[in-house]
Amino acid sequence: MSNGHQVKIEGARKNYGSLAALDGLSLRIEPGQFMVLLGPSGSGKSTLIRSLAGIEKIDTGSIFLDTLQVNKGPINVAPEKRNLGMVFQDYALWPHLSAFENVEYALQRRKLAKDISKQKVDTALERVGLATKGKNYPHELSGGEQQRVALARAIVADPALLLFDEPLSNLDADLRERLRIEISTLTREIGATALYITHDQSEAFALADKIGVINHGKLEQVDLPEEIYERPLNRFVANFTGIAGTFTGKVKRVSKTSCIVSLGEDELKVRHTVGVQVGQSVDILIRPAATSFKKDSNNQLAATIKDVAYRGRGYEHAIDTKYGSLSGVFDTVSHPRGGRISVSIDPDRCIAFPVETK
Ligand code: ADP
Repeated sequence: MSNGHQVKIEGARKNYGSLAALDGLSLRIEPGQFMVLLGPSGSGKSTLIRSLAGIEKIDTGSIFLDTLQVNKGPINVAPEKRNLGMVFQDYALWPHLSAFENVEYALQRRKLAKDISKQKVDTALERVGLATKGKNYPHELSGGEQQRVALARAIVADPALLLFDEPLSNLDADLRERLRIEISTLTREIGATALYITHDQSEAFALADKIGVINHGKLEQVDLPEEIYERPLNRFVANFTGIAGTFTGKVKRVSKTSCIVSLGEDELKVRHTVGVQVGQSVDILIRPAATSFKKDSNNQLAATIKDVAYRGRGYEHAIDTKYGSLSGVFDTVSHPRGGRISVSIDPDRCIAFPVETK
């Protein structure tokens, strides 16, 4: 059994002047679920997470934590009464308090006996791997350690909801990966419901049970990571979750989920998610995972290797075709720059969208 909140946001609207930071957004997060909101800067992610935390108040709409509506009329239930913990991008630790005292601060309101409080803080610090650093002050800790203290502070009171506001953005790549795994395992161990906001698609796919893609204060799609990747509902979602390149062509034949697109001298079989018609101009958005140098496919184009980058597990190639360029074409061996080659396109991992007419 999970002890996480069920979160229900209905028709949330928040205006700053004439700008709608949240534009009638609805979202449901089930108890114990790890939800990641993915969107570009300015799309409304912080406004939403701050409204859930109780630091902001939405203008209209409702927010429920389980059966409690936290924003009824003039009421805005205080952050400390929402049974949640929050981790911020900039750690937000008190500089004049030690790691132990920073974590302990989150228990103050509980008025626990000194020894029980100490035990909880020790356990939280231990869980984030900082058992020996309790006496250190923030300036004596690395960025990663400071964020671990913030994580301990967020979990120490056993919250039913954990909110993460781009917590890894200020850390180096290698540390980011380690702390991401810790956030993932710790949150799931506790059983708390989680909402994590980021503009980084790889972070979103790595962490999420479900991803919500947000744009201009609205959710474009909320789905399993696999569905978002394989079946993006629209061009924005496809573009924002990683593409190798885009080709434009004309639809020659259509079946239920796929179509044949003529690019000029070549044809490609691709998937379509929004209905397309014969004769229509379409953009084909191609996922990096759709591309390979395998020879056993009918869906092939002639290409030239433009660049190659070593990636440890193999090589990513940038290639030129007659119809445009593609990046991130993976192979375990490297192909020399300037070489001629055939690129295979997996029809299931590229999607045709009608060309937008302005
Ligand atoms: P994100 O977290 O996705 O970057 P935000 O929620 O911070 O997006 O912002 C959404 C929009 O609302 C942006 O256009 C931002 O400029 C605007 N905004 C956010 N906070 C304020 C504020 N306090 N006053 C005026 N505009 C704001």
